[in-house]
This record gives sequence, structure tokens and C-alpha cells, in this order.
Amino acid sequence: MSSNRPRVVLHVDMNAFFASVEVKERPWLAGRPVLVGGTGRRGVVASASYEARTCGARSAMPMGQARRLCPQAVVLPGNFELYHSYSRRLHEVLARFSPLVEAVGLDEAYLDVSGAGGLFGPPEAMAASVRQQVRAELGLDCSVGAGPNKLVAKLASKAAKPRACRGRLLAGPGIVVVAEAEVLDFLRPLPVASLWGVGPAGAARLARLGVTSVRQVAALSPGALEAALGRVAGKLLHELAWGRDPRPVQPGRPAKSVGREETYAYDLVSADEMRLRVARMADAVASRVRRSGQAFRTVTLKVRYADFTTVTRSHTFPAPQVSGPVLAGQAEALLGGLGPAGGVRLLGVSASGLVPAQACPGHQLELGLALPGQSRAEAAWARVSAAVDQVRARFGDEAVAPGSALARAAPRTGKGSAPAREG
Ligand SMILES: [Mg+2]
Repeated sequence: MSSNRPRVVLHVDMNAFFASVEVKERPWLAGRPVLVGGTGRRGVVASASYEARTCGARSAMPMGQARRLCPQAVVLPGNFELYHSYSRRLHEVLARFSPLVEAVGLDEAYLDVSGAGGLFGPPEAMAASVRQQVRAELGLDCSVGAGPNKLVAKLASKAAKPRACRGRLLAGPGIVVVAEAEVLDFLRPLPVASLWGVGPAGAARLARLGVTSVRQVAALSPGALEAALGRVAGKLLHELAWGRDPRPVQPGRPAKSVGREETYAYDLVSADEMRLRVARMADAVASRVRRSGQAFRTVTLKVRYADFTTVTRSHTFPAPQVSGPVLAGQAEALLGGLGPAGGVRLLGVSASGLVPAQACPGHQLELGLALPGQSRAEAAWARVSAAVDQVRARFGDEAVAPGSALARAAPRTGKGSAPAREG
């Protein structure tokens, strides 16, 4: 980190991202409450428009509850390919402001702009340019917080957001800048749960000590905090309550894993069906890994039973892999003797140990380029893989399933469409 120039971190956070993308794509939804998320019996809200929030709906709420609170809401299943494409455009905009951009999920990022003042002016002006360019290029609103570190920038962007309050929508300021000298005044009225790492358990333990605000945390001695929360957490919380957060903005930190989970409206009770669902998810995960230009080394399978017992199994390959069939084969092998027992409510497949695809000897094959010495079957598979990736990139993961999965899935899902059977 350079010199004694004051550090300036921006936190950019899209407002109600998935719901806002849906409204942008379907302008007739503007002003209506929109819920994006699982529409099945156990669906959960992934994103709620501010109109839906004024009825009390919010993300992470069971969809059934959100619909009862907001019966007039338009409910959409979500289109993650579309959200990814907006996310890519967001990052193209952010990259103009700093080479130090750390993505958090699809719709948030930290920017270290400490060196950029000469180009873009003071933090207020920089934040205003970010908002204006995001608005111009994505047609969506974001909130921007600025502060001397990540903790303060993140809390500032939260303070900048619109909020639903007693059935009314209050426009936020859009930009909140907290200068070094204002940090303590800004933090102290906030609830203790605003600080990193204070989960519900930690908050409950502090509440038993009568500590609910950052002001009260800051008033405690480090020793008292360590006694309450343990040495590491206590020390960290003391630092944060005093507005000190040395974590750097880490640009280009790649996703640690790519995965998919499905929660079923009705428990799966057949081993065949488990296998077929796992194969289909594995194929979609492999496709997503390839599109990100990466290869995987570890495959993890997750099975959650009706009684919430959860089994997780992994396998790590000695070398990175890119192939869908390899991932699917391994996921099925991990399923091994696991049967449906009393019913399966959730299955998940993920790929981790991600490395750039160049590190994988076979990667050209999967990108559809013929390799010297490649068999005809391999070349054919490579072309199919590339075609499947293109279809998925345009129409979403559900557009293509392995042939065997489709053939067997059709009777149950009742979906008549079989868009592509190349697999
Ligand atoms: Mg957001």
C-alpha cells in the first residue's frame, strides 16, 4: 500500500438487483411489486423490488410468506444468465475508475480509489460519476458508499439506499461519504450486528451484557470483549468498533466455487431420480465453469434428507478438469450407495479448486478446437460441448440437459419442450 495518501474505498451496491433487472427487461412492471425467487412450495425470495418491500416482503423470506404479505406481487423465477450479463457490464463500468476492484457476488464491489483523486476528483464526485455511468449503461440504480476502509464504505452504501418504512418508500441519498474524521460519529449509533463477524449468536451474547450498539462495544475494554466472544473475535470487534479495518481491496479474487443446489417441492424418494437430478446439475455446473474460463479439481456432492440430516462428499482430481461428463460421472460416483432413505429435500453439486483453464491440458478440446491426435468421438464431443455452452449462455442453464436426463425427466416435470438433444 502506497505512501501516506489517505485511503479511499468505494462500495458500490446495486439496488434490488435481480428485481430491478427484471423490471428493466419488462418495462411494464415498473412501479409494481416484483418478487424473484423459488416459486415452488419451499421457494425463497432472492430479490424483492422496493414496491414489494413496502408490503413487508424481503429477500431470504419464504416465498409463500412474501406472497401472503404482497398478494399483488409479480413473481418471477429468476434468470441468472441475464443477471450475469448485467454484472459483467457493471464491472466494465467499475474498471474505468480503478484497477483495484473486488467483486462481491454479482451486484456489489469494493473499489480502492486512493490513487484516483487526481483523475476523478474527490470521493463525492467519483461516487456521482459511478452512479451516473451505471445508470447510463445498465439503466439501473446503485448506491455508493465511500470511506477510509471496507467496513465504513459498506455501511455507508447501506445508508445510501432507499428503504421501505411503515408501508412507504423513502428515497435514499444514493451516495454517502464518510471522511476519516467522521468515522466514529457515523459508526456509533449503528446496531452491533452491523459490524463484520457479529452473527446472531455473537449479537445474543453481547445483548446479554447489555451491549446492542457500536457505541457500547467501543466503550468496552478489549479484555471484556475477548472474555465474551473469544480472543480472536473479541480483538477484531474492538478494532472494528473503533473504525479500524486494514483489509485490502483484493482485485480479481476469483470465485472459490461454482455450484448449484435444488430444494424440491416434494421430497425425492427414488435413487434413480436422485442420480438424474445430480447428473443434470453437474452438467450445468461444468458448463458454467467452462464459460468462466476456468477448470476445476474438486467435485462436492450435498444431500439433505427430509429430517435435515446433511451428507457432504468430495473428490479431488490430481489434475484440473473441464469436462461435463467427468464432473457428472464423479458426482454420481459420490452419490454411490446413498439412497433416498426417508426422502431427499435438497441436492447440490459444486466444483471448486478452480484454476484458469489454460492450466488444464484438455481445455482446447472442450472449447471445440480440434487437437492433433484427437479421436473422432472426442472431436464430436468437443463441438457438442461448445454448442451447449452457447445455448446456455443465451437461454439459461435449463435450456439444455443431458439427453438421458431429459428423456427420464420429461414424464415427471411434464414440460413438453426438449430444446436440444445433442448430449
Ligand atoms: Mg445489492
